[in-house]
Amino acid sequence: MKVIDHLKGSSETLFSFEILPPLKGANIQSIFNGIDPLMEFKPKFINVTYHREEYLYKEKENGLLEKISIRKRPGTVGICAAIMNKYHIDAVPHLICGGFSNEETENALIDLNFLGIDNVLALRGDPIKTESSFKPHLDGHSYASELINQISEMNSGNYLIDDVKMEGTNFCVGAAGYPEKHFESMNMETDLMYLKKKVDAGAEYIVTQMFFDNNKYFSFVEACKKIGINVPIIPGLKPIKTMNHISFLPKFFHIDFPEDLSKELLKCKTNNEVEKVGEEWGIEQSKELMKKKVPCIHYYTMSNSLSVKTIANEIF
Ligand code: FAD
Repeated sequence: MKVIDHLKGSSETLFSFEILPPLKGANIQSIFNGIDPLMEFKPKFINVTYHREEYLYKEKENGLLEKISIRKRPGTVGICAAIMNKYHIDAVPHLICGGFSNEETENALIDLNFLGIDNVLALRGDPIKTESSFKPHLDGHSYASELINQISEMNSGNYLIDDVKMEGTNFCVGAAGYPEKHFESMNMETDLMYLKKKVDAGAEYIVTQMFFDNNKYFSFVEACKKIGINVPIIPGLKPIKTMNHISFLPKFFHIDFPEDLSKELLKCKTNNEVEKVGEEWGIEQSKELMKKKVPCIHYYTMSNSLSVKTIANEIF
């Protein structure tokens, strides 16, 4: 079933979450171990992130450097199929522009279609570590809106070959939104303009970057409405768990902690204390979002579902 149909078919706030494929070499059970504790909250869909290759330079015997490509977390499509098979819950693979030619994208979508997966979250992807800015594949997409266009074309039966109409796919496409602005955008206005482009290209709903100040989400939803973005906007929440998150999350995701939260975090001396603050904050955020009847709350587990379980216990 499509995410948009889940959203439209419910008068109550839905529960969903996102998982990361395990590091290469780990088995599928490690994924199920993260999902099982959250099943009691009846997730309607589970997102699976996509992780691009990274490049390492290894010195060869002759002293020259060899460029080696590695993917630490492969397996998005296989994990989605395993989730659908085991739990009979819709899986939403993330599909990115980075590293993909248009033809590889088409082939990935054909595979998903054959597997009965009819949802994708379409993203551009971040620059890889060795790039100072995002570099698209020579035959690939530069922006998520172009990827969404390609999926919409496939939904209409227009594949990359010739001018022949084929049987259309039936993907429901989601896109990313940034209540605190995407870090490369000149300002909020241009970011919203490009977000609208993704919706006009066919995105049927938006999932937000994590935020810790609900007012930023509420303002974002208002600003979207003002420029004619009328699709559901799903808030994304991340429970802070470790001392390391205190600096890592703002730096990596380009988000701010509100003052009340930072005051509490400053008092913490251990990971356990941070985890408690993160859970309490997540509960309060979720309660307020529920009160405002948001369509769904989407939790970023980042491979650790226990804090999400603690929050969901209080909310769902
Ligand atoms: P875009 O919508 O293409 O926007 C990228 C930037 O370009 C923005 O600044 C935008 O304003 C600007 N822009 C857009 N269109 C144009 C245009 N036509 N001309 C000029 N500028 C333009 N990354 C992963 O690698 N894997 C994942 O699984 C993943 N999952 C994510 C899930 C969510 C919910 C979110 C919020 C992010 C996720 N990301 C993931 C991160 C995401 O790939 C990065 O934030 C990336 O930098 C931007 O992706 P996007 O799809 O928002 O890009």
